[in-house]
Amino acid sequence: MAEAPAPRITVNGRSYRAPERPIVVVCVDGCEPDYITQAIEAGAAPYLRTMCSRGASLLGDCVVPSFTNPNNLSIVTGVPPSVHGICGNFFFDAERQEEVMMNDARYLRAGTILAALADAGAKVAVVTAKDKLRALLGHKMRGICFSAEKADAATRDANGIDNVLALVGRPLPSVYSADLSEFVFAAGVALMERDRPDVMYLSTTDYVQHKHAPGTPEANAFYAMMSGYLAQLDALGATIALTADHGMNAKTDAAGRPQIIFLQDWFDGDIGAGRARVILPITDPYVVHHGSLGSFATCYLPADVDVAGVAARLAAVPGIEAVLTRAAAAARFELPPDRLGDVVVISERLAVLGTTPSRHDLSGLDAPLRSHGGVSEQKVPLVFNRPLLDMPSGRRLRNFDVFDLALNHCA
Ligand SMILES: [Zn+2]
Repeated sequence: MAEAPAPRITVNGRSYRAPERPIVVVCVDGCEPDYITQAIEAGAAPYLRTMCSRGASLLGDCVVPSFTNPNNLSIVTGVPPSVHGICGNFFFDAERQEEVMMNDARYLRAGTILAALADAGAKVAVVTAKDKLRALLGHKMRGICFSAEKADAATRDANGIDNVLALVGRPLPSVYSADLSEFVFAAGVALMERDRPDVMYLSTTDYVQHKHAPGTPEANAFYAMMSGYLAQLDALGATIALTADHGMNAKTDAAGRPQIIFLQDWFDGDIGAGRARVILPITDPYVVHHGSLGSFATCYLPADVDVAGVAARLAAVPGIEAVLTRAAAAARFELPPDRLGDVVVISERLAVLGTTPSRHDLSGLDAPLRSHGGVSEQKVPLVFNRPLLDMPSGRRLRNFDVFDLALNHCA
């Protein structure tokens, strides 16, 4: 009897082939492509070298704002924030008139590829470093979904799995550590050995990338660790697809001082004290390593303000790369206009945006500031352990094409 063709599923207007062998999609948080290059050059990541030579290594663009939540959700839905709605870690809910975290699944406007594959009968497992992403990634998904941060609290009812620490054989990691990401990879290997999921999504944290530049001993050690676990997943027969949620850059001058443009202070001086509301969508509960400073902000202005005039004046401030109106930003970056302020502000590669000095605690920073959020952190790796077939030439690749590439194009 001839084998039936692999079934297909359609999610958010895109079509995916059901996997014939296990696929593991890895989102390496803050993985500027140069981290991988430098680790390979140093001889620290032999399996990553093998992936690039035997499989495929490409570059893609992430979503701007180049932050964690918008990009992880783009990757698992296959579409930009204009469709799925998650455009920051933090935003101003205009309906409720409050500034809130964007962790709640009620802000999600699209289904995930993971949930659709599970509904089609695939065994799906999701492991994320930080718990803030878990509810969004696992939204309406049958299967396993837990965070390394709260691995000790996982239950069959809530997470599809229990006794995670025993399975992984590691203690609960600190939320501010490279261990948090190592736990994700160790859990991935343990799950592949025990349950052999058809689809696995592993998402790490950028603790190391915020502190250490590409090629440093600490960064190379992180990629050496990752390379080892990926080699084990390969040996277990998985197709591996690696991308990043965003890149990472130093945000300092030559002396290592952070280059910060304080937007609330600027607006207070330009249009009057307290009249603008500045939202920094990088804000999340874990601020020690970046002090809520990133290269993207959105600002709400009072109705009587000439938005174009303000935008032109702000655009002339040194370190500012672009100031766009709501409509222009929504069109250029594929963002939901109802979740943006009147203007979107993007800073240059070496600069970040803050509100006012008293609202940024930099005392936890023990290394020169590295951060992300802007267009300067848009390039991310797309690396596969198998060659890609039937790729249309000239296609602009995005990190949220990774499921399409892994399921529809991997040899
Ligand atoms: Zn991130």
